[in-house]
Amino acid sequence: MKMICIGRNYAEHAKELNNEVPSDPVIFLKPRSALLFPDKPLYYPEFTDDLHYECELVVKICKNGKYIKEKFAPKYYNEITVGLDFTARDLQQKQKAKGLPWEIAKAFDCSAALGKFIPITPDMNLNNIKFHLKLNDKVVQDGNSADMIFNINKIVEYVSQYFTLNIGDVIFTGTPAGVGPVSVYDKLEGFIGSEKLLDVDIR
Ligand code: MG
Repeated sequence: MKMICIGRNYAEHAKELNNEVPSDPVIFLKPRSALLFPDKPLYYPEFTDDLHYECELVVKICKNGKYIKEKFAPKYYNEITVGLDFTARDLQQKQKAKGLPWEIAKAFDCSAALGKFIPITPDMNLNNIKFHLKLNDKVVQDGNSADMIFNINKIVEYVSQYFTLNIGDVIFTGTPAGVGPVSVYDKLEGFIGSEKLLDVDIR
């Protein structure tokens, strides 16, 4: 199982980190060891002083494929949830400044939290999925897939040119604006619509 993550997929978020709005999707990977086990807290890593949450819609791949065309992409995923792409922002800024890869800032152990997946039903409009993140009961990110620069089907098409998608892989589709730091004893809760799917405590 691999986790494919899209960066800078919401214009407002790209701006808040002083990044350009990309002309192609920005892709990075997280290994399986980056998965935070459900219901386990995230222990604040010792190598960062600026751990950030990034709440994102995540889809799960249900069919193996490569070179998937946008119009066939919906056959390749069938579940959705919200996830957290935890980021050591201080390390990421250092790596970016040097033009180096981000893995130490993005793909470390337990840096990927996944909510409970729900089935994608025919009545769901994937181009209008509302989701939000609460930090200690206060809404800090409020997103809508309508604001994605590259929608889910375009992402599947683009990613599958380079990486075979396998059953069980997940795609983090990028974070909307409002990212920020977490502290020990914070509580994060992720929602699609009004349904809570994700719960992570920082320790
Ligand atoms: Mg992200």
